[in-house]
Amino acid sequence: MTARVLDGTKIRDEIFAELKDEIARLGHEGIRPGLAAVLVGENPASQLYVKSKIAACEQLGIASWMHTPTASVTTEQMLRLVHDLNSDQAVDGILIQLPLPAQVDTKRVLEAVDPAKDVDGFHPVSLGRLVSGRPGLVACTPAGCMEILRRNNIQVEGANAVVLGRSDIVGKPMALLLMHANATVTICHSKTRDLPGAVRRADIVVAAMGRAGYVQADWIRPGAAVIDVGTNKVTDAKEAESLLRNFPARLEKFRAKGSTLVGDVHPDAANTAGALTPVPGGVGPMTITMLMSNTVKAARLRRGKASSLTDTVQTSAGAR
Ligand code: NAP
Repeated sequence: MTARVLDGTKIRDEIFAELKDEIARLGHEGIRPGLAAVLVGENPASQLYVKSKIAACEQLGIASWMHTPTASVTTEQMLRLVHDLNSDQAVDGILIQLPLPAQVDTKRVLEAVDPAKDVDGFHPVSLGRLVSGRPGLVACTPAGCMEILRRNNIQVEGANAVVLGRSDIVGKPMALLLMHANATVTICHSKTRDLPGAVRRADIVVAAMGRAGYVQADWIRPGAAVIDVGTNKVTDAKEAESLLRNFPARLEKFRAKGSTLVGDVHPDAANTAGALTPVPGGVGPMTITMLMSNTVKAARLRRGKASSLTDTVQTSAGAR
């Protein structure tokens, strides 16, 4: 393995230490940032995610509340809950854990969140602010990818960056952040014609497709920085053997456990890339980290304590 490992866990620890200082400073001014999480029903994965988010709040001293409507909740009931959280002055951030049950109009619910409390960065107002480069709350996963690049001194300005995937929560905001940081950005999706060719031209590759090991090692330009957002659970033995053929220790673990997590980039890319986020342990830890960071930022912005540190798209992206 030759690629430098872009360790998300280490960056999470750095940012948590910075946030603790900032939360203490806000505490001296009588402000305690607060996050309200809404978890509908009993989806085990969602329960686990929300639990980790609440645990992170507790670790940092952020106030947190969990609301747990039953799986039969209606859109109207969800809208009332969001309205109450919008009016609650102790709540700086509102997190609606997705997916919501089929009978709930997810778009309506997300759009009802006060943009000032939109710590997930999913509201059209947040996205609009990002498009126009204005201060605002940026979606956590792409914001985390930018922190990985910035804190590892990977040059974004002038770089050819390729984003694989165009979802509203990862690909699109990622491409905008890279563009604001002065990269030349290509966005690829399922209808892109020569995907290997596009990847081969990239100094920075951000893969967010949800396809295990799809991006082949020989597509990666030698020395390129690769941010692998994909988190794919592989349970098929043949697939695992093909993906992990050069990683005997991981293959052993797969055999013992029956599953493994693989990114969208083939693990062999570790031998061609210059720098690479591991899966797990790369982008994963950054998503909750940036949720915490957004909650503190929302508290500052809402309560008139803007700081020069992270209040613009550009500075949070590490550029300009
Ligand atoms: P998504 O909404 O399913 O979007 C996938 C995107 O990839 C779409 O734009 C799709 O193109 C594109 N795509 C799919 N197959 C492709 C192919 N063969 N060639 C080129 N493009 C292709 O997924 P998402 O929510 O953005 O998530 C992407 C991945 O990131 C998933 O593995 C997810 O689990 C992971 N994720 C991880 C974190 C984290 O914290 N680590 C957070 C969020 C997401 P079309 O638009 O043409 O359909």
